[in-house]
Amino acid sequence: MSTAQNLSFVLEGIHKVKFEDRPVPEIQNPHDVIINVKFTGICGSDVHYWEHGAIGNFIVKDPMVLGHESAGIISKVGSAVKSLKVGDRVAMEPGISCRRCEPCKAGKYNLCENMQFAATPPYDGTLAKYYVLPEDFCYKLPENLTLQEGALMEPLSVAVHIVRQAGVTPGQSVVVFGAGPVGLLCCAVATAFGASKVIAVDIQQQRLDFAKEYATTSTFMPGKVSAIENAERLRSENGLSAGADVAIDASGAEPSVHTGIHVLRNGGTYVQGGMGRSEIQFPIMAACSKELNIKGSFRYGSGDYKLAVNLVASGKVDVKKLITGTVKFEEAEEAFTQVKAGKGIKTLIAGIDE
Ligand SMILES: [Zn+2]
Ligand SMILES: [Zn+2]
Repeated sequence: MSTAQNLSFVLEGIHKVKFEDRPVPEIQNPHDVIINVKFTGICGSDVHYWEHGAIGNFIVKDPMVLGHESAGIISKVGSAVKSLKVGDRVAMEPGISCRRCEPCKAGKYNLCENMQFAATPPYDGTLAKYYVLPEDFCYKLPENLTLQEGALMEPLSVAVHIVRQAGVTPGQSVVVFGAGPVGLLCCAVATAFGASKVIAVDIQQQRLDFAKEYATTSTFMPGKVSAIENAERLRSENGLSAGADVAIDASGAEPSVHTGIHVLRNGGTYVQGGMGRSEIQFPIMAACSKELNIKGSFRYGSGDYKLAVNLVASGKVDVKKLITGTVKFEEAEEAFTQVKAGKGIKTLIAGIDE
């Protein structure tokens, strides 16, 4: 392995992974940089590809490098690069938009029609020694941020986008369904945005125990009763008789969606961030008669990574607490096993030379 130029962690088929020495990426555009990847977080989507070989219509047909939550050190810069230099430590935004389509031109590049996103077939991910990105998709880490924290900028940006979609303002009450990494980070961002009540909902007690100590004002374990009854109890336990201002789903679970709609006040805002089954039953009458604002949220867009870095650098959001442990690159598959088993919050995979 030591003689390998660009050792990569490749998914070949369901539960079939291998280490492969791939060519070192080259600078194609004068604005490109090459990054020596140092830490990569593993999330549900990576595990889903590893377990099922597909997510919806995205099917892994050819071997694909996994990973998309990374930070690293710049090892080479293109001739036109002005914002970065060799040796800079950066968080890597792993989706390159085309810059030409209508959503791109409208400033919503996360909705790009020609997105090239890491570890979404057919595009290779970041679990390799080297990765190439345009300079504007790299975010220089301030002195007080570690590269491990840098790897957490990806899920934090997902949360920043969700909370921005929700338009959370100071003094509001926010209920977050799902206390996994993104749900917890939504709680943290909502708190940073000035929410006065932040309630985490989950069906796993150990996740709620963690959430209790992390950026929430209270937690809620749904009972085996109807969504309406759970919503009523959540409201009464939290002094929200009229309902919550904002409900965020970071679970993708049908009962969460139902409870989320019922927990809201008239005119409240609901944001769907979690991805579960592609179709579910939906309490459309409540949504209509309460005149709810219902929005989706997908990945991250303009300014989200920048704000994520700022929130951590300024001490408003703590991502360190979410890091459960780090495995060696050679033991990358172990991180997948841990995520699948629901062990801890976020497991990182170290770069080749770490
Ligand atoms: Zn992810
Ligand atoms: Zn585009």
